[in-house]
Amino acid sequence: MTSPSLGKVWFVGAGPGDPELITLKGQRLLGQAGAVLFAGSLVDRAVTQFAPAHCEVRDSKDMTLEAMSDWLVSQAQRHHTVVRLQTGDPGLYGALIEMARPLEARGIEWAVVPGVSSAMASMAAAGESMTLPEVTQSVIFTRVAGRTPMPEGEDLAALAAHRCTLCVFLSITLLHKVQEGLRAAGWPEHSPMLVVHKASWPQQERVVRGTLADIRQRCREAGIVSQAMVVASPTLGSLHWPDLTRSKLYDPTFTHRFRKATA
Ligand code: SAH
Repeated sequence: MTSPSLGKVWFVGAGPGDPELITLKGQRLLGQAGAVLFAGSLVDRAVTQFAPAHCEVRDSKDMTLEAMSDWLVSQAQRHHTVVRLQTGDPGLYGALIEMARPLEARGIEWAVVPGVSSAMASMAAAGESMTLPEVTQSVIFTRVAGRTPMPEGEDLAALAAHRCTLCVFLSITLLHKVQEGLRAAGWPEHSPMLVVHKASWPQQERVVRGTLADIRQRCREAGIVSQAMVVASPTLGSLHWPDLTRSKLYDPTFTHRFRKATA
């Protein structure tokens, strides 16, 4: 049973970096927060500007998961609204469940406010689309194995066999493994690839374009070693293709719920 004297913990997606990419709801909750725990290694401190002056703001970068949970629990005993600010969307590589379980066990209410993931921000930075009619209609968010092993059936070679858009998180230092996976799935060496460093961060965003063959070299030249999204997709570069299949949704000969076909 939830005690009425306890506050609520909100896991809020801070967005990918640009403070303007937090949701209105996230901003409102920050504005009424008594305590904020933010992931300082990935969330710009500027996002915490939305918290009131008296709010306790703590950077979690030196904390263990247990210490974070204890902090959230103790703050929920003092404040009505406690915010755990997470990079991008809290449900992607964010240890959400590990942090929510101790709250649940102590009867502390919690909820999630979704955020703009860095995958979205990276494609936006490059002016690229994740889907394209008759090219690919699917997106896979994944990573390669680092210290966290990949579950069976999820190695990149297996996922890349789908030939859809692949957004590879947490893997910039493992680009050779990304290349290995794509090659094992038969992607040609000239397949376009994209790496975006600090997507949406004001003045810090960098977009590196290349191919399966040279993306690693290009990232090395650009000195990109952290906080980057790796994208492999058959849609990349489509802005400049000579032929493009139109999306049915906007085709004048296609009737749908909101528009009658004109021809
Ligand atoms: N929950 C986050 C992901 C956290 S895991 C989200 O939804 O975006 C951390 C990884 O996310 C990084 O290794 C990197 O691959 C990616 N990432 C986070 N912020 C990024 C940014 N601004 N630009 C590019 N990649 C980013």
